[in-house]
Amino acid sequence: MKIDYTVELALQDANRINIDLLDAELLLAHTLKISRTNIISRPERILTGAEAEVYKGLIERRSRHEPIAYLLGTKEFWSLDFIITSDVLIPRPETECLVQELLEQIPIDKSLDILEMATGSGVIACALASERPKVNITATDKSKKALAIAKHNVENQGHKNIKLVHSDWFSSLGKSKFDIIVANPPYLAESDHHLQKDLLFEPKRALVAGKTGMEAYNAILDKVQKHLNSSGMIIFEHGFDQDITLKSLLKERGFLGIVSKLDYAGMPRMTIARTL
Ligand code: GLN
Repeated sequence: MKIDYTVELALQDANRINIDLLDAELLLAHTLKISRTNIISRPERILTGAEAEVYKGLIERRSRHEPIAYLLGTKEFWSLDFIITSDVLIPRPETECLVQELLEQIPIDKSLDILEMATGSGVIACALASERPKVNITATDKSKKALAIAKHNVENQGHKNIKLVHSDWFSSLGKSKFDIIVANPPYLAESDHHLQKDLLFEPKRALVAGKTGMEAYNAILDKVQKHLNSSGMIIFEHGFDQDITLKSLLKERGFLGIVSKLDYAGMPRMTIARTL
């Protein structure tokens, strides 16, 4: 007699290949196009042959460390839903701290000009636009593929105040000036030991800056002053051990009010600085 392939058996299959229960539930919910709650409340639900095949493919890919966000094609950030593909970095919870910090710098009724560099899927720009509809945001990336994803996200969420520009740092920005420049650029060094498992599926150009990990900050800082209005501000996300180096780079270039802030884990994760 043929045994029905139920939700319960499907979750057991995932467990057997060391997939976290939450991941398995999410992949199953995605396959069956139902909510996770529905999975949990109906373990006896029977999968069709086609559904079982899709699900088994997904858990197999997960067992090889392919990130869950790429398998689902979506990721939540700042309580907004984003389309995510392997052309873009998966948004990290730490980056919500950067958004929080940014919001603290922008009064709700101000129409400031803001540049977000290396926007990737557009999470920072979209989160900001959702909270500060009056600001004008220019979001850039040097990857056209990433910009296409950002465009989907901007359009799906209906933001009217984000302009996407294909640009290698400042190359396409002419003489434009901004009140605030924000970036979560690639900041890992080529030799960083974190570059394994799930991270290997993410675009290297979005993670790795070069030999030292500071290359993207240097490239931005070389030109940033020309693109900041007076009393302008820059705010960078960075690695937990890059705050001191970054602060001295900013100091060398004459920035003022340089201060680093911590992420949820208590690690220095962002640095803010101002011009005169
Ligand atoms: N925070 C990311 C990581 O640890 C790196 C993101 C970045 O390079 N901007 O994987």
